Amino acid sequence: MCICVVYAQMLNPETIDFKQLGFHAGIEVHHQIRSNRKLFCRCPPDLERDPENMDYTFHRYFRPVLGEMGDFDPGMLVEFEKGYKVIYYACEHNTCTYEMDETPPFPPDRDAIRKGFILAHYFNCSALAEEIVVNRKQYLDGSITTGFQRTFITGRDGWVPVFNKKVRITNVHIEEDAARRVNWCETADRTVYFNLDRLGVPLTEVITDHRDIDTPEELVELAKQIGRILRVSRIGRRGIGTARQDVNISIKDGNRAEIKGVQNLAMFPLLCRHEAVRQHALIELSQQMRERGLTKEDFEHTYVEVTHLFSLRNGNKAFATIFPKMKALFGLEVQPNKDFGEEIFEKSMLITGIPREDQSHSDEFQQNAVRKRSLHPCKLPINSERHHQISSILRLGPDDAFILVVGPERRALHAMKKILERVKQALDGVPQETRRLLPNGNSEFLRVIHGKERIYPDTDTPPIVIAKDLVDESRKAVGKRPWEITHDLHNKYGFNQHQTDLLIRDEKLEKFHTYTDKLSLNGPLAYRLLIEFPRKKRREGIKLTDKAVDKLAEGLSRKLMTPEQIDPLANMLSEEPQLTIEQAVEKLVLKPATEEEISLLIKQQLKSQDLEKLRTDETYRRIMIPKAVGAVLKAVHYSAEGKKVAEQVRALIRKGR
Ligand SMILES: [Zn+2]
Repeated sequence: MCICVVYAQMLNPETIDFKQLGFHAGIEVHHQIRSNRKLFCRCPPDLERDPENMDYTFHRYFRPVLGEMGDFDPGMLVEFEKGYKVIYYACEHNTCTYEMDETPPFPPDRDAIRKGFILAHYFNCSALAEEIVVNRKQYLDGSITTGFQRTFITGRDGWVPVFNKKVRITNVHIEEDAARRVNWCETADRTVYFNLDRLGVPLTEVITDHRDIDTPEELVELAKQIGRILRVSRIGRRGIGTARQDVNISIKDGNRAEIKGVQNLAMFPLLCRHEAVRQHALIELSQQMRERGLTKEDFEHTYVEVTHLFSLRNGNKAFATIFPKMKALFGLEVQPNKDFGEEIFEKSMLITGIPREDQSHSDEFQQNAVRKRSLHPCKLPINSERHHQISSILRLGPDDAFILVVGPERRALHAMKKILERVKQALDGVPQETRRLLPNGNSEFLRVIHGKERIYPDTDTPPIVIAKDLVDESRKAVGKRPWEITHDLHNKYGFNQHQTDLLIRDEKLEKFHTYTDKLSLNGPLAYRLLIEFPRKKRREGIKLTDKAVDKLAEGLSRKLMTPEQIDPLANMLSEEPQLTIEQAVEKLVLKPATEEEISLLIKQQLKSQDLEKLRTDETYRRIMIPKAVGAVLKAVHYSAEGKKVAEQVRALIRKGR
């Protein structure tokens, strides 16, 4: 009997309905915090700029340890299975024996603890830690020399508003950052390289409830809201690589997938779409498998060697395995241009090091096979003849499929074992996984999601009781929340979210309030000075210092100058920063122009114009008047006010001169 082969169509990622899919998401934001030292030692938290500049190197192998309850964390066992050799590079000026795991930790940085509490207040946490209890979170990927990250909680049960709802913040942590991965070449050999400089830099981890977000737009706004808090509190470090987010995504009947290390918020919508279609496809797949009557017992470890069909080098061997009643299922598209087979091969590749290009499934030979469009198509020399040979060796029925793996014997068999496990898993639908985002919005397996065994108390650090003073003091350090600031600036000056975001991002809010409240500048003018003007000058290649901007604000406040003079004065102050604003104005305007002079200049400007047209054609007028005003102002070194000059121009046009 032949199974009617149904090619289920992958959902179109661009048109999916998130509500209908039961999409839910949450986020874990990791953001470095400003500090004078690392969290558990006294090294400076500076990254090495010159990658060549290294003082020493050493290597390690990792193995898992039992959790507190005497169990291994399943995620850790998979990490161990990868069997990496890890090589570290380090500089003496930003690492010590702590980063090398040769000495126990020093007490955690007090300032970082204090900042953890300030953040907990900003996030409206209703439960604050009464003691700092340092925990160990296992990491066997080599990014931490100890094999675990030290972390502690400062607050729980908070919230931030996202559009019109409250998104729950489950935990606010302070923890040490991991070392920086130097390469990403997984497959060549089992060696990974890390730079130790980043290890130990204090970090805050903010975790939101992974059920509270229903659309990608909300997810972006949530990340922005958390980012704004890190800015307005002045706790978050700035610059590239200081923030990373892990996104947790699930759909109805799917499972939680954690997509790691997303640095760019612009990727959020794409990765949400691609993950939603992946989970939907895997659910469909499990249904199809069950409709075909498949159970886990149908898949056996019966690997057949087919090396003789190929001319392989370096002692590589070829193994094939039959997968009964799986025809057309490995070829199902689960993410754009990636079929289920490749999804499996990504995992076996990461664990065993056999490149996915050396792994193949029988659906690839179909016309229009998805794998042919893949970025990583199979590179094995398989033609239809070999395909038939393998099929007949395996006694493939019309509904069966096979998978072929080529590589060194031990690793190839290991890969086959992983493939078989993953196919059995497919009956359960979507596995819980930690995944890595790829540039095209797809993702690939990184590791199994860790269980509770992963975290256990740090025996090196005694609990630190938190004095009430510290909690009170940190509460006082909390200013307005970003959403309150947005609301205020909108009501007072009509600013939109983007304008407020720029004030927050450039950390100019305090200055803005000084300009408006103490110097009595109007809001839009203060905004122009602080945000628009420095940007405009930068585009012109002129660096405007904060001090120069302060001088301009002072000049405007004391009415020494007009807003039109900002531009030429800014140029002068950047060339001659030692000038006071009085000196600069004096230099710019040797003597202010009289009204007669201005009137004369206007007449000169109007001479070449078609006056009749100016009087009758409003569009023409709208273009020509500002031009004339600009020319006049320039001629008098901006010593007149633009508004008044414009009035004069209009009056002269009316008079006919
Ligand atoms: Zn150190």
